[in-house]
Amino acid sequence: MTVRDIVLWPDPRLTDVCARIAAITPEIETLATDMLETMYDAPGRGLAGPQVGAMHRIFVMDTEWKEGSPAPMVFINPEIEARSAAQSVQSEGCLSIPSITVEVSRPKEVTLRWTDLAGQETRGVFYGFAAACVQHELDHLNGIVTLDHLTEVARASAEADYAEALS
Ligand code: ZN
Repeated sequence: MTVRDIVLWPDPRLTDVCARIAAITPEIETLATDMLETMYDAPGRGLAGPQVGAMHRIFVMDTEWKEGSPAPMVFINPEIEARSAAQSVQSEGCLSIPSITVEVSRPKEVTLRWTDLAGQETRGVFYGFAAACVQHELDHLNGIVTLDHLTEVARASAEADYAEALS
């Protein structure tokens, strides 16, 4: 496994839409294991393909490992099947926009369908932090970042904080 370089905002790859994965090739398997390694190293709880410059519809997530029980998951060609009407606001960071967190409102619960690394069609319901995480990572596959969820004023403030953190 290899830790790959993380693409940083405003790299244009973070605003591109990713391509569906037609087959789980050895390259995709290596990409998935490298993405998990990169996520743990960062350290983070989720990482999407474009964040390592791989423009494929894949993300990895482990919402448990920081609490001591690793549960790595790989999501290939994920799609949201259902979202709750109820929203929740979470403070979200992003490994591609380090040093800042922003408040993002999203559906509280989502039903997701995806293919796992073994090629199995899988479906799961996610709540709370995990729901925010899968929506955040799926956004990356569509060229959307946390900043895109903010009002113009909140975005300007977040971008100023980010510029200052980088300087
Ligand atoms: Zn992110």
